[in-house]
Amino acid sequence: MPNATETLQADDGGIARAAAIWRAGGLVAFPTETVYGLGADARDGRAVAAIFEAKGRPRFNPLIVHVADAAQARALVEWPDAAEIVASAFWPGPLTLVLPLRAGAGISPLVTAGLDTLAVRVPAHPVARALLAAFGGPVAAPSANPSGRISPTQAGHVLAGLSGRIAAVVDGGACPVGVESTILGLKGAPVLLRPGGVPVEALEAALGRPVALHEGGGAVSAPGQLASHYAPGARVRLEATERRPGEAMLGFGAVAGDLNLSETGDLVEAAATLFHHLHALDEGGAEAIAVAPVPERGLGRAINDRLRRAAADR
Ligand code: AMP
Ligand code: MG
Repeated sequence: MPNATETLQADDGGIARAAAIWRAGGLVAFPTETVYGLGADARDGRAVAAIFEAKGRPRFNPLIVHVADAAQARALVEWPDAAEIVASAFWPGPLTLVLPLRAGAGISPLVTAGLDTLAVRVPAHPVARALLAAFGGPVAAPSANPSGRISPTQAGHVLAGLSGRIAAVVDGGACPVGVESTILGLKGAPVLLRPGGVPVEALEAALGRPVALHEGGGAVSAPGQLASHYAPGARVRLEATERRPGEAMLGFGAVAGDLNLSETGDLVEAAATLFHHLHALDEGGAEAIAVAPVPERGLGRAINDRLRRAAADR
C-alpha cells in the first residue's frame, strides 16, 4: 500500500502519471461530473481488490466501469437498440447502463461481483475524458470515499478520507453535478436501478417508452428481471478444513483444495480470485463446494460476506 498519496495536476504531466499508475495496477482518484471516483484497471483483479481494501468496503457490490467513448463500451457489453438510443442522447454524461457482459471482455469478475451484466458509462468531465483516453482501457471506479462516508466532490474530500491509502488523486476542482449517475438496466425492459444525474423522464422521452422504477421509485419491475447477485449452482459449505465425498474444495492458505484463493494467505489475492474460482468449481459440476476458513479481517470480511450469502442461498 502506498504511503504518501500524490496530488496530480489536471495537466498533460499529471494525466500521463495517472495513466501510468493505472497501468502498474495502482489506485488513482479522479474527478467526474458527478463525484470523485476511485479508479483502477478493471481487467486487473488485484487492482480492483485494492479498491475495496482502500475503501474498507465490507461487501463486494458491483462497480461501474468508466470508458472513453461508446465504441469502448460496445466492446465490453452487448448493445441493444435501446442502448444506442440513450448513449447517443446522454453520453458523455451522468448515465450508467447495465448490459449483458460480452464473453471474453476481459473484465475482472470482482468488478461485476460475478454477475453476467456490466455497468458502464462515459463520463463528461474533461479531466475524466482525458484520463480515460490516455489510459485507453476500462477503469472500474466507485466513489472515492471510505465506506459509509459521503461521496467526495473535491480533491480535498478525497484526501481527507483516503490519504495514504491510494497512490494519487488528480485535482480537477469541484464536481459540477455532485449527485451520482443515473443507473439504467437494459438487460431486458428498461428499469431504473438508481436515480441520479439524468432524470428518468428524459430517459423515457428518448426511449419512447416507460422505464420501470426500482429502489425508492415506486413501481417494482418483475422479480428476476433485476440483477441481484451471483450465486453458484452448487451448495456452499463454509469453514471446511477437509472435503467430504462429492464435494469440490476451495482452499485458502495452508488448507488445500482443487483451487486455492491464495496459497500464501494473501487476502488481496483471495479477493481477486474469489469469483473466478467459484465459477470454475461450479462449472465443474460438483454438487457442493467446501470452502476453507478465511480470516474475518480486512478484505476477509467482504470475502466472508459473499461466501455466507452464497451458502445461505440454497
Ligand atoms: P458506486 O460504486 O458506489 O457508484 O455504486 C455502483 C452502483 O452500481 C451500485 O448501486 C451497484 O449496485 C450498481 N451496479 C453496478 N454494476 C451493476 C450490475 N451489473 N447490475 C446492477 N447494478 C449494478
Ligand atoms: Mg459510493
